[in-house]
Amino acid sequence: QHFPGDESGDLRPRQTPGVLYSKAIPTPVAQPTLLAWSEDLAEKLGIRKPEGQEDIDILGGNRVADSMHPYAACYAGHQFGGWAGQLGDGRAITLGEWETATGQSWELQLKGAGPTPYSRRADGRAVLRSSVREYLMSEAMHHLGVPTTRALSLVSTGDQVLRDMFYNGNAAYEPGAIVMRAAPSFLRFGNYELLAARKETANLQQLVDWTISRYYPHIQGENRVIDWYKEVIARTADLMVEWMRVGFVHGVMNTDNMSVLGLTIDYGPYSFVDDYDPDFTPNTTDLPGRRYAFGKQPSIGYWNLGCLASALLPLADKDALVAALETYKDTYWQSYYAMMGKKLGLDNVRPEDVQLITRFDETLASIKPDMTIFYQLLIDLPLYMGTAEEVAKHFEDSFYQEPAPNEKEALFALITSYLERLNTNSITRQASQERMRASNPRFILRNYLLHQAIEELERGEQQLFVKLQQAMKEPYSDTFDEFFAKRPDWATQKAGCSM
Ligand code: AMP
Ligand code: MG
Ligand code: MG
Repeated sequence: QHFPGDESGDLRPRQTPGVLYSKAIPTPVAQPTLLAWSEDLAEKLGIRKPEGQEDIDILGGNRVADSMHPYAACYAGHQFGGWAGQLGDGRAITLGEWETATGQSWELQLKGAGPTPYSRRADGRAVLRSSVREYLMSEAMHHLGVPTTRALSLVSTGDQVLRDMFYNGNAAYEPGAIVMRAAPSFLRFGNYELLAARKETANLQQLVDWTISRYYPHIQGENRVIDWYKEVIARTADLMVEWMRVGFVHGVMNTDNMSVLGLTIDYGPYSFVDDYDPDFTPNTTDLPGRRYAFGKQPSIGYWNLGCLASALLPLADKDALVAALETYKDTYWQSYYAMMGKKLGLDNVRPEDVQLITRFDETLASIKPDMTIFYQLLIDLPLYMGTAEEVAKHFEDSFYQEPAPNEKEALFALITSYLERLNTNSITRQASQERMRASNPRFILRNYLLHQAIEELERGEQQLFVKLQQAMKEPYSDTFDEFFAKRPDWATQKAGCSM
């Protein structure tokens, strides 16, 4: 490492001014046992599946290879709109970087491997529940085509971890687990915010220069900080569009959870929307404000980019930063309409299509059908629909409740306009449907499925867990139509817990 770091190895919680990271050796666990392994990622990285306990010990933090230099990164962030000061990797430890045969470099990180100087009052551990959620969802997002960090392995630790179940007030022991996650980099907006807040301008400059040369090597010259910031804006806008496309709600869009590579990072209380509800937040600590609700994510992306701009003030012209930030909205909307055009099977997006797209959003927000099922049914929409009842019947399987008469009329009017628009497509119906199939997932990892799989795992069964790992690899096919159904009545769409 050529960055200033704290090499003491002292794991006691503390402020670490002047450094970007602290050396942190994982704390051993009772009995690391491999529960899941991502063949897909392993192949990409060129890592063989662990066979002996020696390898599994690395995945559980019980062994550190000679080539590794484990550390926890120091970062800060804005949480729920307020400055939170120093945060840092409190339960994540980077073991080192892995270079693939094609020369790509990946950061390998254990999540839940014990305390670091940034654990504050917490234990540095992760429970099976949250680890299964991170493992499955990051891999599922990858197969959906959404930019994301990845997960290589899931290991149970054999230890029990005490968790405060804040939603029912009881503390309980839960089985511990560790995920090895991977990404080209886990750098967040908060890494830059920390250095700016500490007025460590030389460190900030060094980190920005390194980020650009390493991850944005095509950016060079005088203006490179602004040019880089513009690319982070574009990637963030794209990421927000992708979340909206598949109905993903992150749940904790604090600036310490915003990747400068535009990746989905830090899987906590996330959820897909079942009902199309822009106000839905899966995070209990986000109530009643709903700052991180489904429909607010794009504007929170903008707000977070504003924080990054502030952090870059010591290195770049203020007006140029502000001007760049103001391109976010146009970039987002342009890319949102293009995405919606594909979701709807349009040949291209014409200016007058914007109104149609907006009406889809409004009508769905009012009827709140199951988003995934609605769009699947839209693919097979008959090209003539005579009455509001006929339309309602077609979409019946997506409704959580019978739409009111005026909602049925609105849906009928919308579908009529939509069919007229399809009629003017310059591509064949088949090509249009293919486009829709490629943009609308048929299988999503619904929260209740995760919940069931975790309950099974806690009882020592793996059936659903294994099945979900297969299904998530083919989200656009009908191979796993056993899961093609609305969320059942017993599982309401409500905030889920994740720690
Ligand atoms: P998050 O809300 O998951 O992004 O976490 C916010 C901060 O709390 C980060 O600095 C985390 O590293 C830290 N943190 C969360 N859970 C734990 C834990 N169990 N032990 C130590 N630090 C944690
Ligand atoms: Mg985090
Ligand atoms: Mg987290």
